[in-house]
Amino acid sequence: ATKCASSERWQLFDVANSVVSERRLKVTSALKTALDKGEFALYMQPQINLTTGKVHGCEGLLRWSHPDLGQVPPDEFIPIAESSGMIYSVTEWVIEQGLRYQKQIVEQFPSHVLSLNISGKDLSKRELTVQLITLINELNLNPRQIILEITESVTIGKEANLKEVVDDYRRIGIKVAIDDFGTGYSSLAYLSQLGFDELKIDKQFVMNIETSRSNQTICKATCDMAHSLGSKVVAEGIESLASYTRLQGYGCDFGQGYFISKPLAMSDYLVWLTKANRVTDVKQHLAR
Ligand code: C2E
Ligand code: MG
Ligand code: MG
Ligand code: MG
Repeated sequence: ATKCASSERWQLFDVANSVVSERRLKVTSALKTALDKGEFALYMQPQINLTTGKVHGCEGLLRWSHPDLGQVPPDEFIPIAESSGMIYSVTEWVIEQGLRYQKQIVEQFPSHVLSLNISGKDLSKRELTVQLITLINELNLNPRQIILEITESVTIGKEANLKEVVDDYRRIGIKVAIDDFGTGYSSLAYLSQLGFDELKIDKQFVMNIETSRSNQTICKATCDMAHSLGSKVVAEGIESLASYTRLQGYGCDFGQGYFISKPLAMSDYLVWLTKANRVTDVKQHLAR
């Protein structure tokens, strides 16, 4: 009987496994044509300067809408693109689209800062640096208003030349942010010698900050530490007025989250920006 039960369990396991790999195959094959078919869109999530209450800029977030698969979340397709050798063309598209949007935005809002997520697989690609410099020059953008976000986990392990790569970007004037800070296992000593301009506190610590003393401690400590290392702090996942106010109290520099706005399509973002730039303090406006 035991044998039978366990073989049944294995069957279930296999069925579950094959459903997962079937989905993966579908996503992988659909990804191959997604760029050519124009299925990607870059959404923009506003970031507020928590000290001044003014718009700081935005983070570009990739959206993929497939006719059969529907909206496929980036947390699902980015890892697949990375493991199937397709991430570089995705990254190229994001950079091109992001910088062209930034060009459009700074015409109206000259101090706007754009953050883009870069896969750890691409960061040290020579072609990426070349593409960035070429586009920045062609569009006459200020590199200091471009931030590349790399996830904390990228900074651990293999990438021996990561410091050189980061140094190269910063020499050009492009800023570097450590994304999802607190979820990886990087040492602070390593991160500080790496050098970065921004630390982004992962949303898991921010979303439920009101009900978790330990998350409050983590956020406050991260703000203090980043500031003593001479860098700025961004909180992502601000979902309430209370957490906005609390992070302001910790001296957190910038914030983004559903309380401020969800990621928006470019045309909606431009409308949002126009409205937000009319008010003296975005928080006061949202709190009403
Ligand atoms: P991330 O870079 O840490 O981006 C923040 C994620 O938090 C986004 O999810 C955003 O929509 C979500 N978020 C923002 N505010 C809130 C909030 O108040 N509450 C909640 N619950 N969520 C919030 P999204 O857009 O699904 O992206 C997930 C991840 O996919 C990103 O995490 C990033 O690692 C990756 N990703 C997205 N776009 C790109 C891209 O263009 N290139 C690369 N390489 N990765 C990307
Ligand atoms: Mg990010
Ligand atoms: Mg993040
Ligand atoms: Mg994240």
